[in-house]
Amino acid sequence: MAGEPQGDCLFCKIVEGHIPATIVRETETTVAFRDINPQAPTHVLVIPKVHYANAAELATAEPTIAADVLREAQSVADEDKQASYRIVFNTGSGAGQTVFHAHAHVLGGRGLQWPPG
Ligand code: C5P
Repeated sequence: MAGEPQGDCLFCKIVEGHIPATIVRETETTVAFRDINPQAPTHVLVIPKVHYANAAELATAEPTIAADVLREAQSVADEDKQASYRIVFNTGSGAGQTVFHAHAHVLGGRGLQWPPG
């Protein structure tokens, strides 16, 4: 069923507390935790508690929760005192997506190049 937890999904397991994570914020609809392999001083993943494979599927099915993810990204940046930050949604393996549960990377605390690698 759309949005239901998937037994083989790493991030569903983090939502359920079955895999440890350094959680920095939690709301009724989202969890934010520090990336295990940080690429910047601030590197936090904001995920919806519901399971959708990527950001577009989340936004189509649950636009309010997609907006919650974006608002939480700002709250993460505020808490880490990052006036500037980048939100990345890798979508598809060719773009570097390795976990197929929608997630926003919130990156900040160092100079960020454009175009991205
Ligand atoms: O965009 P992508 O799917 O590659 O992002 C997945 C991210 O999840 C990676 O940055 C990886 O370091 C992170 N991760 C994590 N904790 C885990 C497994 C993966 O923070 N237990």
